[in-house]
Amino acid sequence: MYYFDWAATAKPDESILKAALETSLKKFANPSSTHLAGGEAHSLLEDSRKRIAKVLKVEPSQLYFTSGATESNQLVLSSLIARPARGSVLISAIEHPSVLAMANNLKQAGFSIKTIPCNNAGFVTADAVKKCLTADTQLVAVMAVNNEMGAIEPIAEIAKILKEGTRPIHFHCDMVQALCKVPIDLSCVDSASFSAHKIGGARGAGLLYLKKQINMFLAGGGQENGIRSGTENIFGILTLANCIEKYRVDNQATKKDENTENTEITAKVKMSHLISGVQAAGATIIPQTRVQQNEQDEENFSPYILQITNKKFPGEVLVRVLSEQGFLVSAGSACSSHHKSSRAHVLTAMGVTGDAAQNAIRISIGRDTTINDIDALTQAIKKLLM
Ligand code: PLP
Repeated sequence: MYYFDWAATAKPDESILKAALETSLKKFANPSSTHLAGGEAHSLLEDSRKRIAKVLKVEPSQLYFTSGATESNQLVLSSLIARPARGSVLISAIEHPSVLAMANNLKQAGFSIKTIPCNNAGFVTADAVKKCLTADTQLVAVMAVNNEMGAIEPIAEIAKILKEGTRPIHFHCDMVQALCKVPIDLSCVDSASFSAHKIGGARGAGLLYLKKQINMFLAGGGQENGIRSGTENIFGILTLANCIEKYRVDNQATKKDENTENTEITAKVKMSHLISGVQAAGATIIPQTRVQQNEQDEENFSPYILQITNKKFPGEVLVRVLSEQGFLVSAGSACSSHHKSSRAHVLTAMGVTGDAAQNAIRISIGRDTTINDIDALTQAIKKLLM
């Protein structure tokens, strides 16, 4: 089996999961219990928080464990409801459904929702954000890396625009596809979400960074400083902390994929091989500007995510046929049942419509993907398209 769906879920890091399971079986007590075993579990929890904080260059008290990025995103957006003031909330057109889905709830709670458009190349520019700002804007949500086509959004530039105003505006950033993939800087955002299973950790574990505490809409037992009540998932949290430490990206330009057998090959080399392979196979890259201009442009895309389209088969068909041949890719715009409406919005926002959108697929790679895997996939695509 050739796995090319790492952006949906990364192949788990077996050694990290096994070690975390062993530890959490030994130290199984509830971290809130005041007895000795509870204290041990609590130490594991706080040690994980400190280790993650060190990598992300923030204070441990600014990190809150959640069940995943969906929950992290929704905690931030729903916290607006607890504010006395209403006003506008700006959400980029290419956000993950876990952010977009909150728009309706916020609307019902009295907020006006504005969609920040992206350009044809998939970028939500600082200028586009500026044009949507109003005197009563409460929050702006723009993701760091788009999960469908890999654009790296200009987060620092957007933050700069937001700081120019006289009133503080909360800047929330979904950093799920950026963590351990491209360098991230938490100093310019007010909150950010992360997910363990996208970086080799367990499902059901996520993280929320909050520069400052926010008023919570949800309540409960008071864990995680009242931000996220509920007994902490020590196993998942251990996998998250260990993956963040192991796969940290301090400088993507020099970082090698140390954890693969082919240690010489960086993600960028693999992605550029993939891009030329799919082009030679007769597919078109979305957005086309990713490859039409100079090499610098490729710097603005994640070296892990590629969206392509073709003239011959609907994405859904291509995904099924490739899957039957052992290649696991993901449908782009139009795919089956519940995914259909939740993913098409990204291509639509980029102005990709009709067959180009209908026939799109996403190929995402990870630490174990080899050049041989890529060659096998592009050959299979070539046979189908040529
Ligand atoms: N945000 C982005 C950009 C994602 O790709 C995903 C995963 O699909 C999520 C949020 C949701 O993450 P989780 O599965 O941890 O809830």
